[in-house]
Amino acid sequence: MTRWVYAFGDDRAGRLELLGRKGSSLAEMSSLGLPVPPGFTITTEVCSYFFQNSRTYPDDLQGQVTVALADMEASAGARFGASDLPLLLSVRSGAPTSMPGMLDTVLNLGLNDETVAGLAARSRNPRFAFDCYRRFIHMYSTVVLGIDYAEFEDCLGSLKRREGTGLDTDLDADALEHLVHAYKSVVKAATGEEFPQDLQEQLWGAIGAVFGSWMNRRAVAYRSLYNVPASPGTAVSIQAMVFGNMGEDSAAGVACTRNPSTGENRFYGEFMVNTQGEDLVAGIRTPQQLTAAGRAETGCGLPAMEELMPDAFRELDAVRQRLEAHYRDMQDIEFTVQQGRLYMLQTRAGKRTAAAAMRIAFEMAESGIISREDAVLRIRPESLEQLMKPALSPKAIRRVIAAGLPSSQGAASGLVVFTPGEAERLAEQGENVILVRTETSSEDIRGMHAAQGILTARGGRNSHAATVARAMGRPCVSGTGRMRIDGKAGCFHVDDVTVKAGDRITIDGSTGEVMLGTVATTEPSQSQAFTAVMTWADAVRGFDVRAGIRTSAAVESARGLGAQGFGPLDLGDCIGNAGCGIVIESEIALGRATEGTERLEGLAEWRQGFGTMFRILAGLPVAIRLYRHPEADSSPVRSDGGYAGSDSRGVVTPIARTILEAAAMVRAHGGADVSLELLVPCTIEEAEFSCLKDAIGTMADAVQRETGVKVTYFLGRVADLRIPRACANRVSDFGIDPDDFVRFAIGIGRDESVGLLDLCRQRGIVEINPFACHDGTLTQEIVDGCDSIRITVCETAGRSYISCAPSRVPVVRISAAQAALRSRGS
Ligand code: ADP
Ligand code: MG
Repeated sequence: MTRWVYAFGDDRAGRLELLGRKGSSLAEMSSLGLPVPPGFTITTEVCSYFFQNSRTYPDDLQGQVTVALADMEASAGARFGASDLPLLLSVRSGAPTSMPGMLDTVLNLGLNDETVAGLAARSRNPRFAFDCYRRFIHMYSTVVLGIDYAEFEDCLGSLKRREGTGLDTDLDADALEHLVHAYKSVVKAATGEEFPQDLQEQLWGAIGAVFGSWMNRRAVAYRSLYNVPASPGTAVSIQAMVFGNMGEDSAAGVACTRNPSTGENRFYGEFMVNTQGEDLVAGIRTPQQLTAAGRAETGCGLPAMEELMPDAFRELDAVRQRLEAHYRDMQDIEFTVQQGRLYMLQTRAGKRTAAAAMRIAFEMAESGIISREDAVLRIRPESLEQLMKPALSPKAIRRVIAAGLPSSQGAASGLVVFTPGEAERLAEQGENVILVRTETSSEDIRGMHAAQGILTARGGRNSHAATVARAMGRPCVSGTGRMRIDGKAGCFHVDDVTVKAGDRITIDGSTGEVMLGTVATTEPSQSQAFTAVMTWADAVRGFDVRAGIRTSAAVESARGLGAQGFGPLDLGDCIGNAGCGIVIESEIALGRATEGTERLEGLAEWRQGFGTMFRILAGLPVAIRLYRHPEADSSPVRSDGGYAGSDSRGVVTPIARTILEAAAMVRAHGGADVSLELLVPCTIEEAEFSCLKDAIGTMADAVQRETGVKVTYFLGRVADLRIPRACANRVSDFGIDPDDFVRFAIGIGRDESVGLLDLCRQRGIVEINPFACHDGTLTQEIVDGCDSIRITVCETAGRSYISCAPSRVPVVRISAAQAALRSRGS
């Protein structure tokens, strides 16, 4: 008999695939003895079965659920469907990879006209009972019956207006009972049937809908965005409800064990009194802070949980310590306080900004919770590009029009758009946009991804907008209370300022400021954590990371990012950049350049350019790929370094000479030794290479005679992956751009990959986008791949390295270190 159902707490390790992340963490928290309402999980295997068998279940599932439910009734001390003390259920989704907010959940299940009366009588709180009932009808009808959410929102809105309030907490029992009737009429009108009173129908309806949500549009979109595999699917956890809406001594909250924006080791969270958790994430009211410090920081007028419910807070803070010690990572938790008693509803590794990830990894390693290797493995290499994003210049003039909550770090400027669709459309045209919404929902993720930054009117620092923005690395300002969005007119107002769609604004997710226009930025500075973790990464890696550069400015920034060398510098690119121009390029290339003034002036300019660059290298090695014009490729090299068929001296050596002269000059003026590696492209035969070697040697001697400085250099050859014959020979340079490598390996370039690979992924042809997965495997593949075509890596220089774009230096430093650690571990 296959076991389809596992109760929380009857726990064995390694169940993530089977129980999903939420199910297994509920089981694990129960085993730790934390206060978790009882429940059980239906496995992801049932989800696979469900989709393979036209949305039906294995025969013995129902029996297993009935048994598990009976056990749960026993531990909860209440019975599902009892008219005096009804047990209510939450039916929760949860896949092995967490997909926050993408899958459906049904709360307060088990209410009908009879049990609601029982609940009201037993709790002596009819307001509470009808609050649950209206929430249940609303949720069940949208999730299971597929009725439009807005229909219920409209009912609630008009009821509030009639009662003269904006807050659902002001609605009394009668008003809520009235709302229940209104909701039932909506259901009747939409489906032609009464809202289901049969509890088994409710239960299996919800289970089917939650499994079904695995294939809903937004879940599919999310999986494609984050490379989440489509199998095995989601598990379904069924849990006893606990109630944060039982009055002023009850609440629901979400928290992170550390600050997910900065990584600071301080409890960070929000809660709302007399509510259920759904409202918190939806950003219906702007919530209260967990700690007094948080309240002071956000300027929230209402007391913090620490002040309002000190006992429950203390217990929660202890749970926080316990969870961090157990999971050895920052956790994102959901909890409910029912009449002063704390219940834990969820824990998972928290999403965080790149800066926070760095700081948390560093501090956890420093305090011995994890090892330094673990810290290196914890950094998502791609997320480092976020760290390289510029911050607003402190000196820049800012026209601040509003302030919201600083919810995801970084600054962004762009055109105001009000819909996710518009964000996608303009982003495709290469525009930077800021997505401005009252609040966001999971329908918005593609638009949020397309946007440079996200600004919302409602919602706290744990709202959907904030959480998703942090995960995506988009700056976010949420809960901008004074902002009024007028969707119809296509603008928003803050006091007397009006900002229209298409206007440019800037948001600062680190301060919460919203500004008109584009505000100047400065390059980011690196934290102590960044420097330390990167140094740990450098220590485990077997090769250097160098930056491919074209300009002196790039050298400086790449050195700041930890480049251990530079190049290969492609002279083909440099010629354009040096400004000395096209004339020289074509003259040299065609071998027509003579001792005429034109050429000398040109080369003087080059010499100066190299001189500047060499000075800022400050001793780090630079590899320069000597220029070779395609026209020359077909001609064998002459013994003087020129090419047969050209009428004067050659293509390679005059530039080599200029470079040597520049290095000599720098040295003569007291600069550091230039660690110079000259690379000859496209030589195929050994004899060809020796000719060039001799010619350049002669030139170096001449330079030494003229300047009195001996310049040492290493002369090597570039592997050109497209010329297998050249690779089979000994080559000295190993400089491969990962993108080039992927293009070489699979025949698809990065630009083409955007549409094509997405399509392949949607159809299940490929599982991941190789361009998006610099998790180390790719780097490893590069190294392996090169082994198999026998490239000797920098054997003479004694250095092997990978070269990448300057901005990607930190990404490669980390991903290559991770590859090394993983292969060491395996
Ligand atoms: P998601 O995956 O979208 O976070 P959850 O299953 O965590 O969905 O449910 C969403 C919210 O519903 C939770 O944050 C919590 O506040 C509430 N909830 C879930 N289960 C229970 C329960 N047993 N009792 C009370 N509230 C619950
Ligand atoms: Mg949740």
